[in-house]
Amino acid sequence: RADLAMYQAKAAGRNTLCFFDPEMHAVLARRAALEVDLRQGLLDGQFFLQYQPQVDDAGGVTGAEALLRWRHPQRGMVSPGEFIPVAESSGLILPLGQWVLEAAARQLAVWSRQYETSHLSLAVNISARQFRDPRFVEQVLRIIEQTGANPQRLKLEITESLLLDDIGDAIDKMSALKSHGVGFSLDDFGTGYSSLSYLKRLPLDQLKIDQSFVRDVLTDPNDAAIARTIVALAQTLGLGVIAEGVETAEQRSFLSEHGCRAFQGYLFGRPGAAEDLLAQSPTVA
Ligand code: C2E
Ligand code: MG
Ligand code: MG
Ligand code: MG
Repeated sequence: RADLAMYQAKAAGRNTLCFFDPEMHAVLARRAALEVDLRQGLLDGQFFLQYQPQVDDAGGVTGAEALLRWRHPQRGMVSPGEFIPVAESSGLILPLGQWVLEAAARQLAVWSRQYETSHLSLAVNISARQFRDPRFVEQVLRIIEQTGANPQRLKLEITESLLLDDIGDAIDKMSALKSHGVGFSLDDFGTGYSSLSYLKRLPLDQLKIDQSFVRDVLTDPNDAAIARTIVALAQTLGLGVIAEGVETAEQRSFLSEHGCRAFQGYLFGRPGAAEDLLAQSPTVA
């Protein structure tokens, strides 16, 4: 995304020569190649999910976020920060997002059948493009039915960008899924443009404080104020709140002191295999 913005800026400034910019050519060529490889990767089963623990105030694992991983046969691991935007712009996010939902729901069903893991919830990232698809609701419901996953334990992470499209349509889709028990968390909250009046209208369950505010929460008074405000806002609206990107006990303590009761971050566990979710050493201060 940063690359693309840079080249759009360059193109605007030097519009006649930009096509021959060798750097731009390299970026566009890589994107085009990634798109071809994404298509093939889906067919060849190169994608898998990792699960990062979400914990409560006592450090107990309450669930996980499913994070998509791509092991490319030549390039090795490609980060979602690079391939998700390509998947979105090419439309491949539709089959890819569907694959993610299916794999996550299957895992959720496995957890539900085991006594030790039956309490776990699973958060799944949904891209705006995927959510906008008119078949989105029926696809999610079909996957729930086919996998036997408990919809009460499924949490869809959406972003504010999706609310810019058509707020009425977003409310309709969320309400339809909510009536089946599916929950919604607003990911990367604070980085987008959602107005407070929109926030009130959305059938949300949780706000997720973006990690960019958590990172410097102890040293940057603005970030601290934003984090505190998000917690207060969630409380006012009757929503849950979770902080992402929590790496230190000090960050956790600060957030906890200001009313945040759910956390995710390297302090508690890195994204890993489903089998290791409960095995990771819990870090309780
Ligand atoms: P996100 O949904 O905000 O996910 C959180 C990201 O922060 C993940 O990066 C996670 O590995 C990372 N993270 C977790 N704890 C910490 C921490 O303590 N410190 C730091 N520095 N980072 C931490 P990841 O896995 O690279 O994913 C990046 C983004 O890609 C995600 O951001 C999400 O927007 C997107 N993404 C990942 N999987 C999917 C997917 O299945 N579908 C869609 N549409 N997007 C996905
Ligand atoms: Mg997320
Ligand atoms: Mg996030
Ligand atoms: Mg984030």
